Amino acid sequence: MTRRSNANVYEQLGVRTIVNASGPSTRLSGGILRPEVAAAMADASQWCVDLSELQARGSELLAGATGAEAGYVTAGAAAGLMLAAAACMAKLDPARMNRLPDTTGMQNEVIVARSQRNMYDHAVVQAGAKLVEIGIPDRFSGAGVRDTQLWEYDAAANERTAAILWVAQPHSEPKLPDVVALARRRGLPVIVDAAGQLPPAENLRRFISEGADLVVFSGGKAIGGPQASGILVGRRDLIQSAALQQLDHDTYFEQWNPPPSLFDKSSLTGFPASGVGRVAKCGKEEIVGLLTALKLFLADNSEERHARWLALCAEIADGLQGVRGARVALVSRTARGVPAVELTIREDELGFSALDLVKRLQDGEPPVHANHSRVRDGIVVFGPTCLRGGDTAVVIARVRAELGSRAATA
Ligand SMILES: *Cc1c(COP(=O)(O)O)cnc(C)c1O
Repeated sequence: MTRRSNANVYEQLGVRTIVNASGPSTRLSGGILRPEVAAAMADASQWCVDLSELQARGSELLAGATGAEAGYVTAGAAAGLMLAAAACMAKLDPARMNRLPDTTGMQNEVIVARSQRNMYDHAVVQAGAKLVEIGIPDRFSGAGVRDTQLWEYDAAANERTAAILWVAQPHSEPKLPDVVALARRRGLPVIVDAAGQLPPAENLRRFISEGADLVVFSGGKAIGGPQASGILVGRRDLIQSAALQQLDHDTYFEQWNPPPSLFDKSSLTGFPASGVGRVAKCGKEEIVGLLTALKLFLADNSEERHARWLALCAEIADGLQGVRGARVALVSRTARGVPAVELTIREDELGFSALDLVKRLQDGEPPVHANHSRVRDGIVVFGPTCLRGGDTAVVIARVRAELGSRAATA
């Protein structure tokens, strides 16, 4: 991309830019696209294509990257969850597609372990599904040892069950292969939310190989695609249903000549209108951007990527050595597999807390957004994945300025 020497687009709009030392959060506008991805999106914007042909080619590429039968580029992982639920409820019935999110008389229950509930499962409910929670994660309280038990899925399944939702985390219980084995016995599809489970890149294939029927990934997180992009992969019939409920069909059925790799027209008794997925529209720029980013992500050597990130973290850690009131640690691999700098705040000495420091950094000039996920433990985390060239020096200077100052006023 050409970079103008004068004002960037945000300066022209009068919007300040921030230093994102947190990670690709939606509220922080995600990460920084690689120039090849931005260029591919700009190129995509200069042509028109048949969107279903573009998605069909995407399906082949996503299938190749994940081992799934088919795939679909969505407007984010949450959009993918909504489409996944819609697909499991409507299947290939155009009448049901047209009715969603009204699920009267349909299989509409989605079973989920209580310990895996999170605000993204709203997306499943948005398609019209009803979440059925199971299990008491009493290991959380320290008193017990249990999370959801396998038999509890079996006990909750009935003739209204549409699917099982399983949220992927390294600590998710029960394990996916066991849930899949049970779901197969009951003839139920398993939807896996793996939005944030990259890296490692092997996870692109893992959940499909463990038997998941549908898997979603975020395009705007580690893959480095556009913020409003995601991946839905899985069984061909379910992906076809998702596509039918997302694409625009303002044509005559006899006029519709869909690419056979994504649609089997003979399996359809009729043509649905634009479905529940229409609100999660995904444009050609996002589709091309996601596919380009995925190609680069797969070509990237993960050790080299890790080394690049580690070098940025080492710069920050070195620059913060000896700061007042805090201990600096360079962590080569956090639980997420990414390096980070952890700053443990000595609140007694500083007179302010880790959360105060996060607030001061974000409210200062330029705003520096640190990761606040561990402030309860007194730790402020700095991550490398969304930094631009020159940002490490800004982070160091701003942290030093804040730690050098007196007690918090906030
Ligand atoms: C980030 C995330 C999502 C949402 O992903 P988007 O691509 O932003 O829609 C869904 N589920 C989980 C577990 C996530 O971490």
